[in-house]
Amino acid sequence: MKETSTRLVLHFPKETWDKPVIYKLVKDYDLVVNILRAEILPKMEGSAVVELRGDRKKIGEAVKFLRSLKIKLKPLELDIFREDEKCVHCGACIAPCPTNAFYLDPKTYRVEFNKDKCVGCGHCIPACPLRIIYSAEF
Ligand code: SF4
Ligand code: SF4
Repeated sequence: MKETSTRLVLHFPKETWDKPVIYKLVKDYDLVVNILRAEILPKMEGSAVVELRGDRKKIGEAVKFLRSLKIKLKPLELDIFREDEKCVHCGACIAPCPTNAFYLDPKTYRVEFNKDKCVGCGHCIPACPLRIIYSAEF
């Protein structure tokens, strides 16, 4: 079993508003579902941002299940910002960043943010002790 996680934006057609979709993801696909945001109203189209965690194969099957209900999915790519003036250059955001978008400038010993390298995975957000890294979506 290969454990992985993915963050998805889901758009629900109005026919699905009362379907136990999240329950099925947990029960039938053995996934941990973290609902990061949801706007679902009776008999209306809805949307949600979820993190799915579990076996890679099961996540693939769960995605097929969601599509079979005509729920549209797309990967969540966060638009990351940092409040530069508040940064204390502790470096805690460097290790979790898979693309070196956060990096230590060897000349200044300051932690810089290269937005062009950022892939929006969000790993840096909880790593910052000052909580000055955030995304437009949250
Ligand atoms: S969102 Fe991911 S890629 Fe972008 S800076 Fe944070 S950790 Fe690095
Ligand atoms: S973890 Fe936060 S305070 Fe530390 S270097 Fe990164 S952005 Fe700055």
